Amino acid sequence: MQLTSCISFLPRCLALVLLLVGGSAQSGTDPDRHSHEHTPRLVIGITVDQMRPDYFYRFWNHYGEGGFKRLLDNGFLFRNAKFRHGHTATGPGHAAVYTGTTPRVHGLIGNRWYVPELGREINVVEVPDSTYTTVGGGPRAGQNRAPGNMMVTTIGDELRLYSGERSRTVSVSAKDRAAILSGGHTGDAYWFDRATGNFVTSTFYRDELPEWLRSFNQRGLAREFLQRTWEPARPIETYVESRPDRNPYERPLPGLYRATFPMDLSEIMRQPNMDAGILNVTPFGDELLFELAKTALVEEALGQGETPDMLLIGLSAADIIGHYFGPASKQIQDYYIRLDEYLADFLDFLDEHFERDEILIVITADHGAHYVPQYLHDLRIPTGHSNFHTRLNETLREQLRGHLERRFGTDLLLSISGPHIHLNHPRMAELQLDPAVVRRETVRFLQSLDFVGGALSADTLDQAEFTEGVRGRMMQTYFPARSGDVLMWLTPHTRGDLGTGYTGHGTPWTTDVHVPILFYGYDIPHGQSSAPVAPSDIASTLAVFLNSPFPSGNTGSPLNDLLYGH
Ligand SMILES: [Zn+2]
Repeated sequence: MQLTSCISFLPRCLALVLLLVGGSAQSGTDPDRHSHEHTPRLVIGITVDQMRPDYFYRFWNHYGEGGFKRLLDNGFLFRNAKFRHGHTATGPGHAAVYTGTTPRVHGLIGNRWYVPELGREINVVEVPDSTYTTVGGGPRAGQNRAPGNMMVTTIGDELRLYSGERSRTVSVSAKDRAAILSGGHTGDAYWFDRATGNFVTSTFYRDELPEWLRSFNQRGLAREFLQRTWEPARPIETYVESRPDRNPYERPLPGLYRATFPMDLSEIMRQPNMDAGILNVTPFGDELLFELAKTALVEEALGQGETPDMLLIGLSAADIIGHYFGPASKQIQDYYIRLDEYLADFLDFLDEHFERDEILIVITADHGAHYVPQYLHDLRIPTGHSNFHTRLNETLREQLRGHLERRFGTDLLLSISGPHIHLNHPRMAELQLDPAVVRRETVRFLQSLDFVGGALSADTLDQAEFTEGVRGRMMQTYFPARSGDVLMWLTPHTRGDLGTGYTGHGTPWTTDVHVPILFYGYDIPHGQSSAPVAPSDIASTLAVFLNSPFPSGNTGSPLNDLLYGH
């Protein structure tokens, strides 16, 4: 190895230099540790979809020594991290983590949004005018999948550009949007195809699956896991931190009548129209993903090159279990007890391949979650629901449509897509109605409904600058060309879509924006902070550790506690 190549990023090069000059030093304590010569060899980003920060502490007594406890006892935890955008969903959240900015800049305003010119919603990772097809999937696999709607670079993109395209990012998740948006424009992304149980990609990335992934798929692990029964990992009577398993606030898995343990997956799979997607309503979906991540790390030789690489893991079962059962459930408790075991196993695996200071791990979430509204309602905690048999979104749509019709003589409502309300512009032009007047009337009416938390018109969002609180978060959710005419949000503990899931996320309230940020490895100090930070601070923090430029639209700030905290 030539010393000139030690301008490279490898800590082992630094160690070699120190050896040659007769010194010896631990790179982790070297005063020049943030010099250009010392960076992690591999960054591992783990995004636990829908993870609330309280899960660390609620289930602490059930965790072993090698998983969460190892990470928290040695790493650095940010306890007051909140997303800066208001529509808390998987696409905008994953993008915020790795682009270091908000939907206002990265452009991903929801998991889907309405496009008036197309007369339909598009998926966040669907590029409508493209011809990309899915590689390795079944007939129902999504088409036109690519990161093209994301208007800025990710930290992985910047690392690749900075390294002369030597650094690589591999991103895996059960969900296409999590894998694609984390992986950026220049990484590789692989996600789960529910029809076949295989991991797939898009022709945006490559025309054929890599050989190692074909072999992985051929192992048939998904099929094997689908023979399992989901039972509590420990005696259920020890799960005292969650509500009784049988309760009215949970949703049975497809094909089952009760949302209680045990859940026999092979019994579900014997019923018509079932597919491998059921795996991701159990912890086994994320167990499978860790197996894929380990295989990718070895087969792609990540962290073994001259420049740092990134391995990004999006754990989606965490979210889907949360939607079905809610944060108070035995199932969520069992998921986190098992995740702790998966993490311990993964950390052991990393120990076999790397020194601790060669890797940098960051764990966060794409959004939080709120308790099941009906559960809170029954505890006499106010919600915006007067009954749980109708969906508030439908009530809202009917009432707003009726109001605009009475006021302006015609139906002017085109679409409500998440928080984004689109009005019918051709019709307003026909009737010579001033759109600003219709928008103002829409806001006024919405704010008269007691389950609506607030609304802002595009006129206000174009002219004002809200920097704090819920309005500040909604401001960061607004991307003019995609957001429509009015942005709206409901009161806390209120869901517009009851019926598709008992609970979840999506609101700008604390329950949904508050997530953990945990750094571990490299020369991360041990500690914790309650400073107000955001997951969109992660990308620039990584950039500092990697010496790379910040992502192109970055608005977050590096987490200073990690850089000068010891
Ligand atoms: Zn979700």
